[in-house]
Amino acid sequence: MNLNSLITNNVTQGNPGNITGESQNSEFWNVTEVESLLNAPFNDLIFRAQTVHRQYHDPNGVQLSTLISVKTGGCPEDCGYCPQAARYHTGVENQDMLSLDEVVSAATAAKDKGASRFCMGAAWRGPKQRDIEKMTEMVRAVKSLGLETCATLGLLKPGQAQQLGEAGLDYYNHNLDTAPEYYEEIITTRQYQDRLDTLQQVREAGINVCCGGIVGMGETRRSRAGLIAQLANMNPYPESVPINHLVQVEGTPLYGTAALDPLEFVRTIAAARITMPKAMVRLSAGRQEMSEAIQSLCFLAGANSIFYGDKLLTTGNPETDRDRALMEKLGLHALS
Ligand code: SF4
Repeated sequence: MNLNSLITNNVTQGNPGNITGESQNSEFWNVTEVESLLNAPFNDLIFRAQTVHRQYHDPNGVQLSTLISVKTGGCPEDCGYCPQAARYHTGVENQDMLSLDEVVSAATAAKDKGASRFCMGAAWRGPKQRDIEKMTEMVRAVKSLGLETCATLGLLKPGQAQQLGEAGLDYYNHNLDTAPEYYEEIITTRQYQDRLDTLQQVREAGINVCCGGIVGMGETRRSRAGLIAQLANMNPYPESVPINHLVQVEGTPLYGTAALDPLEFVRTIAAARITMPKAMVRLSAGRQEMSEAIQSLCFLAGANSIFYGDKLLTTGNPETDRDRALMEKLGLHALS
């Protein structure tokens, strides 16, 4: 399928995800349509993604988020990719919740290095009320530094999103991880619907939604299309869409999964950009193992946000100096 037929295809299906589309989520992307994007000739796909990207975003701007783990390891869930699940033996050391001072000094350092958003992650099934109270203190303190705030704390109980929102939380991250039909291969201790319920609470509390998934977990191209369709069909779709490449950690069930062709990762980024034109698409986990060339293709395909800092919860991330050097080489600048 060439570019014109891709565009025509979507126009005839009334799909405003075409390159002249304006509205956010007056459309529905079925899995086959997204799969058609992923199947398109690479040049056509990237051209279309870049065209959409330029309609809605600064073409050379990249948003920088720093992520820290405020409570590490010992999680009761069984996410097959996660080194923090208590049931897997991965060598991750459990760490109790950080103090407010520790979080504030990490946020200050992130801001000094140029981050505009500070994300706090905790390895829980979901927070208890006493955890929410500590998290709201952290959110207030980080926000007072002039940073955007984001938290990823697991499943939320009724009322918890509202408390976080009242404290000034800007974004809540909760990923769908994969397509519904592949989900049970990856996680059995929580259901897809549990995730959607938490995302609904976040929306209702007026907090921006950060929601994406992981590729390279042994899924098919159709399942990658299924993930993107799920995200794009949320109404509205997430403001922030992290696309992660599986980081294989020894001791987790997904260790040893056949490696994904890196260009397939780029295609997934492009499909996210085309189907969610206004979202910030974040090139997330797995960047440390990616060449500069592949990362550059991801930016060309519409990624405009990265995690910035040498650690992502428990796995590695490129050093900030390397990221700065790559951005300079590509003429990219940090978005404030
Ligand atoms: S991804 Fe989150 S919920 Fe799943 S095991 Fe890891 S820390 Fe727990």
